[in-house]
Formats: sequence, C-alpha cells, structure tokens
Amino acid sequence: MSQKKPETIAAQALGWIDERTRAIAPAIHASSTFQRDADNQYRSGRNYARADNPAFDQPEAVLAALEKGEAAMLFASGMAAATSVFLALAPGDHVVAPKVMYWSLRHWLATFATNWGLSVDFVDMTDLAALGRTMRPGKTRLVWVETPANPLWDIVDIEAVAAIAHGAGARLAVDSTVATPVFSRPLELGADLVMHSATKYLNGHSDLVAGALVTRTKDEAWERIAVVRKQGGGILGSFEAWLLLRGLRTLFPRVRTAAANALTLARSLAANPNISHVLYPGLPQFPGYAIALRQMTGGFGAMLSIRVKGAAQAAIATAAHVEIWKRATSLGGVESLIEHRASVEDAASLCPPDLLRLSVGIEDAGDLLADLERALTLAHR
Ligand SMILES: *Cc1c(COP(=O)(O)O)cnc(C)c1O
Repeated sequence: MSQKKPETIAAQALGWIDERTRAIAPAIHASSTFQRDADNQYRSGRNYARADNPAFDQPEAVLAALEKGEAAMLFASGMAAATSVFLALAPGDHVVAPKVMYWSLRHWLATFATNWGLSVDFVDMTDLAALGRTMRPGKTRLVWVETPANPLWDIVDIEAVAAIAHGAGARLAVDSTVATPVFSRPLELGADLVMHSATKYLNGHSDLVAGALVTRTKDEAWERIAVVRKQGGGILGSFEAWLLLRGLRTLFPRVRTAAANALTLARSLAANPNISHVLYPGLPQFPGYAIALRQMTGGFGAMLSIRVKGAAQAAIATAAHVEIWKRATSLGGVESLIEHRASVEDAASLCPPDLLRLSVGIEDAGDLLADLERALTLAHR
C-alpha cells in the first residue's frame, strides 16, 4: 500500500471504496452530530462535527500520504491553517518568519499575533547567516518559511533552515502552497509541518476556500493545533471537503501541465524587450535556481512574476490589455490569472511597483504567450 506512487494515490484518492455501497466516489457526510450508544459511550469515535467530521477522513489521509506525514488536518482556509500553528504557541514565544511571504499572513503576524504576545522577527530566509543571528536558542519556538515565496519566488533551502531551527530547539513549518506535493516534500527535507492553502493547487478549480496542515509526527505540538481547530472552530464544510478530494485526484496532471507552461512562458518572456526581469525559479539566471534544482523534483512550479519596463503604470496597462488571462487575485487554478501585486500588498511589502504576478494555468502555452505579448506591446505604444 505505502509503495504506491503518489500519482496513483492521488488519482484513486488512496483507492478507498465505501463499504456499505461499494461506491468509488465517497458520499457527502453533512451530519453535524452523531448518536451516542445506549450505554452512554461514543463507540463510533465521533460526537460532533466541529471536533471531527467523517468528510475529512479521506482528503486528510490523501494529503498525509502525498506529503509523507503521519497526519493531516483540514481547515476553513489557508489562513485558518497557518494562524492555528501560531495560536498553538503561547504568548511570549519567539518566532521567525520571512520578509518575503504571502502578505496577508505577514500582516497578521505583524499585527494580531504581535498584539497577542508573540515576539516576531522577519528575516531574509535566503540569508542563512542572518537567520542564525535571529534565532534565540531555547526561546524561538517556530521558524516559518515559504518556498517558492510570494511574489518574488525566493527559494529557501529547507534542509539548511531545518538544521538551524532544530539546532536552536525550534520547529520548522513550510508553506508549500506554491511548490505542491508534486514538486516538493518538505517533511522529507527536515520540516516538522507543511501548510497548504488548499484553495490553490490542491483543489485547483478556483471554486472553494480551504487550508491544510500535515505533520511529520503526531506529537504534542500537533495535539495543541488540533485543540485550536476544535475549539476555535475554523473547520472546513463537508461539501468543500468533498470538492477538495475531487480536485486532488487530478493534482499531478494539472500541476505538471501548468508548470510546463510556466517554464515555456518564462523562457520566452525573458527575451521580451518590454520586460526588465522575469522571476521564475526554473531559469538558470534566477538566484534560487541551484537550490530549486536540488530541492524540487520534476519542475519549478507554475508561478512567475514579470517586471514591466515603464513602472507601475505600464504594468497596470499590460494587465488592462490581456484577453485570455483573467485579472484576479489568487493562484493555482486551471485558468491563468494576472495581478498587479503592489495594488494588493501593504507598505511593508518588498514587492516592486512594476511587478505583475502570473498564475499559469493549463491552457495552450502559445495562446497565453501571444495574449501577454500583445498586451505588453499595446501598453508600450
Ligand atoms: C492563498 C495563500 C495563503 C492563504 O490561503 P487562503 O486559503 O486564501 O486563506 C497562504 N499562503 C499562500 C502561499 C497562498 O498563496
């Protein structure tokens, strides 16, 4: 069973068959509550759907298998998953997070989490010496990284960061939303926790919001996170859990097609006279390329950014002229999205004003390229 390839695990959702009906696709369990036995016991192991929901069992088992962890937990969103990791710490604890990361979580760490009592330092996670200097042995509980990291696609060396974190007695959590289990298994590289915005590639169809955590071991820290979910109530709905499982079945072909498109686009756009920089980990001139080549397997993901000559104005005008690309936030769907990130992120963001973030989908790469090239030309006329 455990020898099966991840492609097989995903396509068959572990091959589970409903015992009562022999159904290949699971039923949707919508019940909020479960009957107690006559002798006052709960032999089913279930009593209330905020605590645990049978609709989570299969998608959580699939995610744990794909990430090679002991257990997984679904959440109402990626933010619910990520913030639960920090809320399972105690006020006064020290954590280290990246300067380049999903901006909404960085903002939450700098505001809510800091007000709540966490001591948060933001460092350049590509600078291991700087990370080492920021660690407070015995006081730092958690190091959080994202790789590739929004929206500059910094590549963080998970193995090296895990060694630094563990050396100081801290745990390492990795936001692997962009890498996906197709291209990266952070737990194998030494991370303790993996987080996904399942809204993105895991579901893949831009039709639900969900989050997930996967743990290497079901340790005490994992149990505290489970309490945060159960008591805080940031749980996913049963229908969304079912949709997520359906999306997961096509994870590998979707993500591989999108990443192949992204590589084709990155190579062509690097030669475009209206672009100053293409930020994509799969280009040999990209600073994180060597680490990405070693740490990611079979591809570099499907997210890239371009910096448009002519500053913010030209970038926004480029986005205005596309027809196939959709002007929208988010990422990881089968359809390609384009976004002027500086319009979204806060003042602390390192995002340059001329940057457009591209979430590459599974359309024809030639169509995507022609549409973008045409928009770039029109924006520079
Ligand atoms: C979208 C995203 C999140 C937040 O997830 P939600 O599902 O929107 O709450 C966190 N990290 C990354 C990298 C993301 O892209």
